[in-house]
Amino acid sequence: MNQGDANVDHASENGLVVRESATAGRGVFTTRRFERDEFVFAFAGPLVDEHSINDFTHTIQVDHNLFVGPSGGLDDFVNHCCEPNCVLRSDPPRLWLVADRTIEPGEEITIDYATCIPVGPTLQYCCCGSPRCRHRIGTFWELDSETRKRYEQRGAVPKYVLEWSEVTARR
Ligand SMILES: [Zn+2]
Repeated sequence: MNQGDANVDHASENGLVVRESATAGRGVFTTRRFERDEFVFAFAGPLVDEHSINDFTHTIQVDHNLFVGPSGGLDDFVNHCCEPNCVLRSDPPRLWLVADRTIEPGEEITIDYATCIPVGPTLQYCCCGSPRCRHRIGTFWELDSETRKRYEQRGAVPKYVLEWSEVTARR
């Protein structure tokens, strides 16, 4: 056990806590180190189709017309970053986060929302503070090809997003 462990309270046994974020209201922060490719947590909200959603806040798409709604837990507070430290992995209807690099204790857990948005309009302004900030989140297909390729190679793009291009290409 290192010195830091003595300060970790019982609420953060899984290595994660929700607290105020400098850039975006509340966020999820680590209380321990996560290694690259380590499982971080799974989204635990109820599965809903788009017709039963009034508010898409805290809702993430996992498959064609299938969304994971808010859970009331820390998965509702994961913020976007244009240079995130986690990637989304999915095997519908399951959706979870994996560390994309080593994450140190105290870092905010972030994902790139664009990886699970196949189609716009998504005019959400971004002020994540990353040197590579795009200033708007946009859709997966609006990312530059290098970034798209990297996310695909990391298994970070749900199948329905990749299939979207095949659908549009056939038109
Ligand atoms: Zn940004």
